[in-house]
Amino acid sequence: MPGSDMTRTHCPYCALQCGMEIRPETGGGLAITPRTDIPANASGALCQKGWTAGELLTNGERLTAPLLYGEPVEWETALDYVASRLSAIRAEHGPDAVAVFGGGGLTNEKAYSLGKFARVALGTSQIDYNGRFCMSSAAAASNRAFGMDRGMPFPITDLAEADVVLLAGVNVAETMPPFLRHLSGPRLIVIDPRRTRTAKEAWLHLQPTPGTDLALALGMLHLVIADDLVDETYVAARTAGYEEVRTSLAGWWPERVERITGVPVHQMRQAVRALAATGNAYVLTGRGAEQHAKGTDTVSAFINLALALGLPGRHGSGYGCVTGQGNGQGGREHGQKADQLPGYRRIDDPAAREHVAAVWGVRPEDLPGPGRSAYELLDALGTTDGPRALLLFGSNPVISAPAAEHVAERIGALDLLVACDVVMSETAVLADVVFPVTQWAEESGTMTNLEGRVLLRRRAVDPPAGVRSDLDVIAGLAARLGHRFDDEPAAVFDELRRASAGGLADYSGITYERIAGESGVFWPCPSAGHPGTPRPFLDSFATPDGRARFVPVQHRPPAEETDEDYPVYLSTGRVLAQYQSGAQTRRIAPLVQAAPEPFAELHPDLAEQLGIAPGDVVRVSSRRGETKAVARISEDIRSDTVFMPFHWEGANRLTNPALDLVSRMPEFKVCAVRVERDS
Ligand code: SF4
Repeated sequence: MPGSDMTRTHCPYCALQCGMEIRPETGGGLAITPRTDIPANASGALCQKGWTAGELLTNGERLTAPLLYGEPVEWETALDYVASRLSAIRAEHGPDAVAVFGGGGLTNEKAYSLGKFARVALGTSQIDYNGRFCMSSAAAASNRAFGMDRGMPFPITDLAEADVVLLAGVNVAETMPPFLRHLSGPRLIVIDPRRTRTAKEAWLHLQPTPGTDLALALGMLHLVIADDLVDETYVAARTAGYEEVRTSLAGWWPERVERITGVPVHQMRQAVRALAATGNAYVLTGRGAEQHAKGTDTVSAFINLALALGLPGRHGSGYGCVTGQGNGQGGREHGQKADQLPGYRRIDDPAAREHVAAVWGVRPEDLPGPGRSAYELLDALGTTDGPRALLLFGSNPVISAPAAEHVAERIGALDLLVACDVVMSETAVLADVVFPVTQWAEESGTMTNLEGRVLLRRRAVDPPAGVRSDLDVIAGLAARLGHRFDDEPAAVFDELRRASAGGLADYSGITYERIAGESGVFWPCPSAGHPGTPRPFLDSFATPDGRARFVPVQHRPPAEETDEDYPVYLSTGRVLAQYQSGAQTRRIAPLVQAAPEPFAELHPDLAEQLGIAPGDVVRVSSRRGETKAVARISEDIRSDTVFMPFHWEGANRLTNPALDLVSRMPEFKVCAVRVERDS
């Protein structure tokens, strides 16, 4: 057991939620030790971000007083001001003139409170969050195939027993290195336009043209059928819709797919034969497959492949989404999404509205309906019928949203911007009011990791004087608007449990005490005596008839193709030492040293053609904006593509806000750009 000054908690960053024991050191530092009771990193691993997480707490740029138009003020003054402006804007323009934007890093308690605050205290339908930019396509595809989205619906430790794991657009070696330890046994097949760190570990790397993953998945399924590799018994017993999908694949013969994707037929065949060989295989998708205007269909195509091979819903094989943000899974379950209520319920479902309204003490008919999705909400700010005020929690859309310059313009058109943040992020700088809030080791709350395992983050240190929790901000504003909200995490969690009861993401049997005693509890967990559900689909899927659904989908080109003016594809992604918009990690000295600046990665052939040498400053432009970066020349990238990380201002000035029709995910992973040496 840890010593009395040792606290068991979790990393503040990604969805792996590595376990940590932390102990305050004299002088203000924090000693961090990996926990051995949390399977995600029981091997004792943490990545560079985790090891240096203590520096987030002592960072000299921490905000410690509310700012009203840049001037430090008392908390009560700032809360009074915001509440009165919100009331005035609502009175003049209606409740939907006030919008809320949340984040996938917020605890479950905050995500829940935020959704309730928007619907009950503000009465607005205009709430969404940055998770829409993360894994929403995989969530939508899982919902339509399995009737439920639980990221990876199996414990991460199951992966080590597999023979083969297919990673479609997943780069865990860069984003969450401890994950790789679970993949040391199986043969890896990686689909990625770049030869990423993960691809370098692979037994087989398929390197498609950006924006063609969907065609590749269709070609692979075509081969599964043509080569008689379909698990007919499983398909008959556990699925529906196979015939329609089989017919829809007629045009996707492998040679045609090779022409579209650039992936040789023999590689596709090698991949599907390996996946089919033993049945002990997993198909995992990540942002590379999901962040497209056809992301939902792309994930559906990979799920169809997994279903044809008989993988999902069995112990030892399956499909899963590798969620990215710290609470990417929990963040989408408790009601901060535009179309959802707590318990992962649809907001347009009358029974869901009735249940949640009863917990909230309001009438179902008084709850607003679905609102705008994240990009649509940002795009509408300050327009005639769009929101006039925005409350921002745990998000930095000026860096992380597509067409970021346009988003900054829209934010600039607001009557009121309120930001809750730890430091002065690029978006907080634009705010009329900034509330300084607590972060990971300064607060308690639950997080749900990429396995669907609910974990407990515990307060280990006192926050700096002047800093309060987001829950205090929500409760303080709610009180001024005439509503009583809890601001203690444990009380909020108790209410969340009641609101989630009977929903897909049922947390009603989960308590802080259980989580602490059991190293996390898997949802659904509908009662105190229930053991939790590590593998929810073993007996049946969450569809009305218990069968998984094949969904027929067709490939189409990216929303923006290359042409004479913009002849190169841009793909964006992550680097190991930075996290998301970089607001946290760009302030940590060892991380800055490891990844100091934005770069543009180019193939030597493209660099030569453009007269660009390593270290040159290049100008990259698209139809939406331009930015500069330092050129890195690498054979790991295709010669028709430039790669840029999005942790710094710039990359998302270029990206295309074309949205997926189902998930409303923007097309971060492919657009057309021009690259020039900056003279
Ligand atoms: Fe933290 Fe993720 Fe790194 Fe683990 S892998 S230490 S959770 S950032």
